[in-house]
Amino acid sequence: MSNKNVYLFREGDKSMRDLLGGKGANLAEMTNIGLPVPPGFTITTEVCTAYYEEGKQLPKTLMGEIDAAVADVEKQLGKTLGDPKNPLLLSVRSGAKFSMPGMMDTVLNLGLNNEIAEAMIAAGAPDRFIWDSYRRLIMMLSDVAYSDRFESVNKKSFEHVFDHLKEELGAKSDLEVDAAGLKELCSRYLVYVKEHAGFDFPQDVKEQMKASVEAVFRSWNNERAIIYRRREKIDDAIGTAVNIQAMVFGNMGDDCGTGVAFTRNASSGGNHVFGEYLMNAQGEDVVAGVRTPMPIAELEKQNPVIYQQFVDICAQLEQEYRDMQDIEFTIERGTLFILQCRAGKRTGTAALKIAVDMVGEGLITKEEAIARVNPDLLNQCLLPVIVPGTKYNVLAKGLPAGPGAATGMAIFSAHEAVKLGKGGEGKRVILVRADTSPDDLGGMLAAQGVLTERGGMTSHAALVARGFGIPTVAGCSEIKVDDNKKQFVTDNGAVIKEGDWISLNGTQGEVIEGQVPVQDAQMTGDFGEFMSWASEMRTLRVRANADTPADTAKAIALGAEGIGLCRTEHMFFEGERRPVVVEMILDIDNAESRKKGLGMLLEFQREDFKGIFEALGGLPATIRLIDPPLHEFLPSLEEQIEKVATLKATGKDVTAEEVLLGKIRDMHEINPMMGMRGCRLSIVYPEIVEMQTRAILEGAAAVIKAGGSALPEIMIPLVGHVNELKTVKERLVATAEKVVSEQGVAIPYSFGTMIEVPRGALTADEIAVEAEFFSFGTNDLTQMTFGFSRDDSDRFLKPYVAQKILPIDPFESIDQNGVGQLMEIAIAKAKTVRPNIKLGICGEHGGEPDSVKYCHKIGLDYVSCSPFRVPIAILSAAQAALGKGVSDK
Ligand code: PEP
Ligand code: MG
Repeated sequence: MSNKNVYLFREGDKSMRDLLGGKGANLAEMTNIGLPVPPGFTITTEVCTAYYEEGKQLPKTLMGEIDAAVADVEKQLGKTLGDPKNPLLLSVRSGAKFSMPGMMDTVLNLGLNNEIAEAMIAAGAPDRFIWDSYRRLIMMLSDVAYSDRFESVNKKSFEHVFDHLKEELGAKSDLEVDAAGLKELCSRYLVYVKEHAGFDFPQDVKEQMKASVEAVFRSWNNERAIIYRRREKIDDAIGTAVNIQAMVFGNMGDDCGTGVAFTRNASSGGNHVFGEYLMNAQGEDVVAGVRTPMPIAELEKQNPVIYQQFVDICAQLEQEYRDMQDIEFTIERGTLFILQCRAGKRTGTAALKIAVDMVGEGLITKEEAIARVNPDLLNQCLLPVIVPGTKYNVLAKGLPAGPGAATGMAIFSAHEAVKLGKGGEGKRVILVRADTSPDDLGGMLAAQGVLTERGGMTSHAALVARGFGIPTVAGCSEIKVDDNKKQFVTDNGAVIKEGDWISLNGTQGEVIEGQVPVQDAQMTGDFGEFMSWASEMRTLRVRANADTPADTAKAIALGAEGIGLCRTEHMFFEGERRPVVVEMILDIDNAESRKKGLGMLLEFQREDFKGIFEALGGLPATIRLIDPPLHEFLPSLEEQIEKVATLKATGKDVTAEEVLLGKIRDMHEINPMMGMRGCRLSIVYPEIVEMQTRAILEGAAAVIKAGGSALPEIMIPLVGHVNELKTVKERLVATAEKVVSEQGVAIPYSFGTMIEVPRGALTADEIAVEAEFFSFGTNDLTQMTFGFSRDDSDRFLKPYVAQKILPIDPFESIDQNGVGQLMEIAIAKAKTVRPNIKLGICGEHGGEPDSVKYCHKIGLDYVSCSPFRVPIAILSAAQAALGKGVSDK
């Protein structure tokens, strides 16, 4: 850690984000390029780390350094902190390297106390404004600095105190409370703090400063900040900086205002300034979503000079950062100040449009465009939309804050949404709130969509929703939410109660009655163009895991270059086939019964494969021979026991059911995932291999004979010992040769195996002698390397991740040190005997950005993932080839 803990804005620049945080580095940069930034300084992120390392103690020299920096600001402005005659007031804000909007704490108006408030009024400052500023300071500082020790000094309680006063005064809104009322409110707040915390609210401004700085550092580890970091994969160790800056006021009168704007439209990506502002208000009022602000275009009418100055600054900042910026500004007595700029959060659609437009404008290169879009954002371009032409009843209209369509049950608390929604009971819910606070984050993530009565396009709810691709309608003033009754009423009188189904069209801002049909979006326009650049830049191929012609067609439309895994047992799940399979399995030791069942399945499968080859139009298909754990096809043991017992109790004939129960018992496995599956099944019942090989090659032959082409790659699963592979291969080749000669056409098939058992990876040099290709089955490889069940390990994996025992769920992103090491050993060994062996991956990791980048690094030829992750894998592969990740993380 360096000796310097505090940097004046003029001492920093935009390259210093690690040390000064994103906000601090940008304030420094803006200061140095001459923008109107109120003076201030930044306490480094290193201090935050040291604060935690030292058991929550600030470094000894820090307060001295802060004093020196404050003295510099005082000199610049000719005001003095704590001097009643000419006081300096400050804001204290968090600012980590990566923006975490609204997740940490802020203190405004620091420097006010009883004496200074009175003195400022005596010197001519508007009294209402001073008492308003002071009551905000008491509330914010008490909330952030003391409420962890004294719960009742939280923001909500102060709001209750205010609500009581408003009731007494007969005031409907804050604005109707006059100066005397706000002065009374300050006194009540001070008494409230004394009563509930047991000490006086600090009148000493230095004490206010110390308490605020510590509170911001502590807020790094509040619950919502932790949830946000986990979700955004931001390292917990980087800490936040603290920015301390001279206050400018947007609430001093009608020639004052405050707002937030993006240099381009954060929802659609359109190239125009997009944002909102409120006259006579503080920044908190805009971002907290308690008042619905005006669109920025209104400012052009209200104050064209300031509007033009602001638009010019937007252009200057875009040139400076070569990216869309999110800018906070304040107008104080007709003068514009810029308080913050940062790369603006945007929807996937906007991210693509902005990237494509900026390439067209010559602002960035195609490579930069590819490097800066977070692959996960592409999910949003594939967000469902309401099926075009659907007729529906719009209950109310609000702001289109987060695009996409969602349908679910109206739920009125974040807590209930977490219980019922994604990650909980798995129901589809729409979270409905009067306004959202950052505490609602968990509920928002669990919901299909979010609806709020208040709040604008730049409220936290909207920012977070857009960032995470949650369809959201915000600022919907045509509804009135009643949390107590758990319902909302629309202006038209419709009443929606908890549990009623509603839908949202977040792209249009519509709240819709009941459920509506939704469909997936198409890859066209900017999306198509962007993806074509990504495709050109990558070296890693991308295939899809698909089991049907329809899935195959979908995957190809999204850019897949073949099938990397066709799970043939999935074909057995469908309608009329399942009973055939179940019957055959239950009587599997009877050769006659096997033959009959397999004969029927051959007919089905031949047609399936033919359809898939047709959909592929000559692209390769890796088709895996049957690999189901048997229990997936057997009737449930428990249910059968119950059935027999019930029949017996009612005196009915149970002979047939008891025979079935006996068979189920015989087949029952203690560990089905480690039981009779994969190549083991094919070895014990070789006719299955013969049937499937025949079906694949006859399907391919039919397509080839019809003038098409087919490239089957037949794959054997779950191989741990080379002899398993040899045994299956012998039968497979014999059948293949027979089919080829029967059909009389050349079928260019190849033969390979999955590497998904650790022993298979460790003996890959023996296995590669027999296999022309390997596909890493990282689902099973992770299961067997860790010894974690892939089906039900959530119960401990969630706490593992929460307690940082593991950095991330290894079923989500490849564990590079362990599972990855096995992959690398397998690759190195295989190449000693077959230097050009084709290598791929078909576990779920094949569509996860970090895993795709890892697969590029270790030299795989392709990744294969579910059809909807194909664009994500393509973009990740392009970023890996460029040697860059997403610019922001
Ligand atoms: C794997 O194990 O990674 C794999 C792709 O096979 P499955 O998920 O079908 O077991
Ligand atoms: Mg597997």
